[in-house]
Amino acid sequence: MKKLSDIGTIKEILSRHGFNFSKGLGQNFLINPSVCPKMAELSSAGEGVGVIEIGPGIGVLTQELCERADKVVAVEIDQRLIPVLEETLGDYDNIKVINEDVMKLDLNELIENEFKGMKVVVCANLPYYITSPVIMKLLEDKLPIESITVMVQKEAARRICAEVGSRESGAVTVAVNFYSKPEMLFSVSAGSFMPAPKVDSAVMKLNVYKEPLFELEDDKKFFTAVKAAFAQRRKTVLNSISSSLGLEKSAVNELLLDSGVNPQSRAEKLSMEDFAEISKRI
Ligand code: SAM
Repeated sequence: MKKLSDIGTIKEILSRHGFNFSKGLGQNFLINPSVCPKMAELSSAGEGVGVIEIGPGIGVLTQELCERADKVVAVEIDQRLIPVLEETLGDYDNIKVINEDVMKLDLNELIENEFKGMKVVVCANLPYYITSPVIMKLLEDKLPIESITVMVQKEAARRICAEVGSRESGAVTVAVNFYSKPEMLFSVSAGSFMPAPKVDSAVMKLNVYKEPLFELEDDKKFFTAVKAAFAQRRKTVLNSISSSLGLEKSAVNELLLDSGVNPQSRAEKLSMEDFAEISKRI
């Protein structure tokens, strides 16, 4: 089996398959041999565990996951990588590669069919053009998963792992914290990828709650409130919500006071409970 731990091997495989990187698909492949073992280890892939990987590329991380987990299902959109993966993962009998767009897959069905009796985790070096939509899909679909260990742009990881109510927080911080406890794991320099992206990356782990933080009548209203409050983050929460939802200021003012929120605050100062209270009245 070809271990993909050195750049020479990776370049040789890619050139033999005549592969050109697609910028549009966020193809920055890992070439730093120390990153994948560490990431796979921290993802909790192990005995009795099934792993969903999104975007295996040529299979660098996939190999490490196959070494540890009972089963790995890797979802890759780029059909040109399928023969490459057949070669690089040929020696493993615990891998299934699905040639699909992850955003179009029914992941609940996939878990039910592929991972009976196993704990399930997600581990991926995500394509950066869809980082937030993929993370929100994984969380909003309420999958029976334990954790999501993902490489994302460092800036995005900082935002997601920020404390709710701190300057660095944003709508995505609140949304992710509703479903999981985020944890920053380690940073990865831009030079660890081929081609090298413009910015550094980081690996974070979202420890998914069995139940979301609050019982809400309507999760959608919660996210509408969060997005509206952060839409114009330099403005007061009163102005941001009223202008982004097209509501009368006086009505929003009353709604905020009834929720126990100062209408003159900025969204980044609000707590999870504040957003829950606002969403009940919106
Ligand atoms: N895991 C590999 C690595 O670490 O070297 C590749 C990571 S690369 C950042 C992202 C991968 O996601 C690429 O292989 C790309 O083709 C794939 N991808 C992009 N969009 C996708 C989608 N919507 N569904 C599934 N895979 C996707």
